[in-house]
Amino acid sequence: MTKSTLKLRENIPISQLTTMRLGGNARWVAEASNQDHIRAAYKFAHEQNLPVFILGGGSNLIGRDEGFEGLIIQNKTTGIEIIAETDQTATIRGASGEVLDNFIEFCTDRQLSCIEAMSGIPGTLGATPVQNVGAYGQEISDVLESVEVYDSAQDAFISLEVSELQMGYRSTVFNDPKKTQALLQKIDKRANIDPTTTNSADFVNWLTVNKAGEINLNVLKSTLKKAKPSLVSVMLANNETGTTQDVKQIIW
Ligand SMILES: Cc1cc2nc3c(=O)[nH]c(=O)nc-3n(C[C@H](O)[C@H](O)[C@H](O)COP(=O)(O)OP(=O)(O)OC[C@H]3O[C@@H](n4cnc5c(N)ncnc54)[C@H](O)[C@@H]3O)c2cc1C
Repeated sequence: MTKSTLKLRENIPISQLTTMRLGGNARWVAEASNQDHIRAAYKFAHEQNLPVFILGGGSNLIGRDEGFEGLIIQNKTTGIEIIAETDQTATIRGASGEVLDNFIEFCTDRQLSCIEAMSGIPGTLGATPVQNVGAYGQEISDVLESVEVYDSAQDAFISLEVSELQMGYRSTVFNDPKKTQALLQKIDKRANIDPTTTNSADFVNWLTVNKAGEINLNVLKSTLKKAKPSLVSVMLANNETGTTQDVKQIIW
């Protein structure tokens, strides 16, 4: 385990940390590259009485315009290794901060078939067990054996078998705080900065959210109300001038 100082930054725009480029300032952001950093970050948050939010690639999040009066732990852990191998199978361990596509590339480079259908899904490996990420007939739960989690209540890293994670369609123990708490007594990873889910689309419309008002929100809202919800999904892109309030006006 590398001993190094935790890198802490103050008053960082969440918009710089998420792919939608939305959100006001986070009071603190810590970059965690190893277990020491994760422990130190939680210790800091505990001492300052701050809520904690875990950030992967920020591809499935919308930050609040008013920001977050807490600590965002930005996952920068890296490393992928084969820890067991036979003629037929291999067991691969990947750090949660690895980009999902890098993990898939590692596997395909070695002719190891596992989750290659999920190539192109944005985000980190560590976010995949959170909502049981999947595509085109493959889900992470098909190949997952276990995860290592940090339990802040015990200040301990513990291993959980996939059977403990209650993995269903885009649902696991990690996205139900009550279940997670039941499993770990307490886990501080579920602090909320308005995470929203961007599902794969049946029918995609590209829209630009623009603070300058290029979109007529009223027209858009009434169009969406008339549309059949099961047939329409809207993909939003932000040209970096939009706010979370703009998005709320469109989809809430
Ligand atoms: C264009 C597009 C296409 C997509 N296609 C698909 C698809 O086909 N199938 C699918 O299943 N999903 C899809 N998604 C959803 C998205 O890719 C996943 O949710 C992805 O896993 C998010 O990863 P991330 O690292 O960016 O997570 P973030 O956006 O940073 O975080 C998402 C959530 O996971 C939590 N989290 C992240 N890392 C950790 C960690 N290490 N420990 C604990 N909690 C953590 C965060 O706290 C947050 O609640 C798509 C998203 C986009 C934008």
